[in-house]
Amino acid sequence: MRRLLVRPSASGTTYPIQVGRGAARRLAPSLVAKPIGDRYAVVTDHTVRDLYGEGFLSRLHRAGMEARLFSFAPGESRKNLKTLEMLSNRMLRAGFSRTDAVIALGGGVVGDVAGLIAASYMRGVPYVQVPTTLLAMVDSSIGGKVAVDLPDGKNIVGHFWHPSRVLIDPNFLETLPVRERRNGWVEIVKHGVIADRDYFGWMERHAGQLVRLKGRALEGVLATSLRIKARVVGKDEREADLRRVLNYGHTIGHAIETITRYRRYSHGEAVAIGMNVEGRIARELGYWRDDDLKRQNRLLRQLGLRIRFPDLPIPAVLRALRRDKKVAHGEVVFALPRRIGAMRSEQGRFGLRVASAAVKQAIREAAI
Ligand code: ADP
Ligand code: ZN
Repeated sequence: MRRLLVRPSASGTTYPIQVGRGAARRLAPSLVAKPIGDRYAVVTDHTVRDLYGEGFLSRLHRAGMEARLFSFAPGESRKNLKTLEMLSNRMLRAGFSRTDAVIALGGGVVGDVAGLIAASYMRGVPYVQVPTTLLAMVDSSIGGKVAVDLPDGKNIVGHFWHPSRVLIDPNFLETLPVRERRNGWVEIVKHGVIADRDYFGWMERHAGQLVRLKGRALEGVLATSLRIKARVVGKDEREADLRRVLNYGHTIGHAIETITRYRRYSHGEAVAIGMNVEGRIARELGYWRDDDLKRQNRLLRQLGLRIRFPDLPIPAVLRALRRDKKVAHGEVVFALPRRIGAMRSEQGRFGLRVASAAVKQAIREAAI
């Protein structure tokens, strides 16, 4: 079992992340030893409930804890205020009070919904993150961002609300479909590009096996990616600047998700295309070498991802960027690499302003 600490700078509270096979089983004894609430509301979706709910709950009960399961239908389309209201109502009817706590058991959608319930129920209760998808393990379960969507925008109603602890248990990944795993791998490749050249090199050498990676090798990957993410969010909680490096591939990726209404591409698939486009922008501007761009794209392709988007409609992308408030005075702000493992900064800042013309050119190239 590996343990690391996240120190969000602004709030000052530190929380531990435990990584390792069987980490989820340690939750009950650790909450008995150090409770964060009188009772626990385990929030999950129906899929994860059917796979893991009963076992998870009975372990808490056997340890003498009072816990109840609250679940909702899976999918991003349920990450909304209705779900928040429905679950809060059920918790209230079940007698949950301000001295109780929440446990998020599921992927990124569950983490966001459960996290926002924790942030808002009775003006805020503590919670624990137990992510069950690779994407949630390496990305959304730490950093403290919790939010739900509105019909016209993603993550509009939200909060910064840090979990009391995070348990990362790779055993959950055994039931996770390959497409969902790939989603997580895109973020992991991104971690290599933005922060760790050796890590990236290791991924290249194991490219063929990555999506099916198990055991100690997978635990090593989880620990490395979490260390990278924890370092970034620990230094800059409110995204002023450093946190932008985590956004690599995401500015264009979000535009693609918006244009295709979150249906055609999963998050990882859109970000892979975004990394190709943003990587091209960095090459266009002479920030990193063609060779590094090729290595990034080759690895993404080896993971089974498409990096091109034929017919990517340039005006629609620019419109989406504008709506996302990413465009100002004909310029778009990006975080861009200067080599694999390091991001470019100017005057100590990672947010770089790029002329729309260069963005258009990169999209045009990425389309073919
Ligand atoms: P993400 O974590 O990718 O942001 P979700 O929370 O929507 O997104 O999870 C993706 C899908 O995978 C959902 O349908 C969810 O029910 C399902 N899921 C989550 N964890 C597991 C698991 N360990 N095994 C199988 N399916 C899972
Ligand atoms: Zn992402």
